[in-house]
Amino acid sequence: AENRIEDNREGTIIRLQGGFYDVMTPQGEIRSRARGNFRKRGISPVVGDEVVLHIESETGYILEVKDRQNFLVRPPVANIDQALLVVSAAEPDFSAHLLDRFLVLIEAKEIQPIIILTKMDLLQGEAEQHVSEAIAAYRTIGYQVIETSSETLTGVESVRPLLKDKTSVLAGQSGVGKSSLLNALEPSLALETSHISKALGRGRHTTRHVTLMPLGDGLIADTPGFSNLDFPHEMELEELRWCFPEFVALQDDCKYRGCLHLNEPGCAVKQAVEAHEIMSSRYTNYGMFVEEIKNRTRRY
Ligand code: GDP
Ligand code: ZN
Repeated sequence: AENRIEDNREGTIIRLQGGFYDVMTPQGEIRSRARGNFRKRGISPVVGDEVVLHIESETGYILEVKDRQNFLVRPPVANIDQALLVVSAAEPDFSAHLLDRFLVLIEAKEIQPIIILTKMDLLQGEAEQHVSEAIAAYRTIGYQVIETSSETLTGVESVRPLLKDKTSVLAGQSGVGKSSLLNALEPSLALETSHISKALGRGRHTTRHVTLMPLGDGLIADTPGFSNLDFPHEMELEELRWCFPEFVALQDDCKYRGCLHLNEPGCAVKQAVEAHEIMSSRYTNYGMFVEEIKNRTRRY
């Protein structure tokens, strides 16, 4: 009550450095320290946290950490609005299995995925038809798919407006063109694009903290998320079907409540697969993920 209200400001933690938290506020960055009774509740602030600061002679003191919308452990980031899921059209070959795996991991965290297909310039021959059919099918599910080439810069500018006012994290295997895409969007980043020792991915084996960097009027994590492609331990078999939006849309038509869409009679999802209304690869991958989670559970 002694703090005059005009001394309090809200912002987002964008960096942890030398015991300080750098907080982005509408009035600029403020170097801050933690001081608040949120500590008693066992909360330690992380990058992405929305905080209330009290400002005293240009130093901020974090009074409050707002409830988190979501939280990623590796890298430790809170309140992620969306994951830019980067997959290559070629080199490495487009993989529906890998895409579905990433989509499940992202959906399970209740983060909005946006699929970014890179290296469109390298697409040729039979793969061209295969990939364009897949793009259409993922769009039919309701996913946003952006086709890009960091080589010709095709489609790169359509990524920028998606970043506005959002906190984004990149996801995607090594070599698909994540750094190249960021460089194409913001040449001053000058991220290394070799396979070894580059800026993106550096955080994985060291204790270096993740940073949120401004990009296209939004914030983006400088370390890719979802580098561990195993399903998390807390993920239950029953949860998997909720990560396939086109299954969710049909599940009320399944004969049994709680249908897992495996061998249950009167399963609307299986019928839709047979009628080619659901991508067969999505259903196959679902079955593989089910087995993976079952086998994992058995180990404990
Ligand atoms: P990251 O590991 O996901 O960050 O991938 P990089 O950005 O380091 O890219 C891996 C390799 O693919 C590099 O040799 C890039 O030059 C190349 N590359 C990335 N994007 C494109 C693209 O759109 N077209 C072409 N032809 N090559 C690309
Ligand atoms: Zn079913």
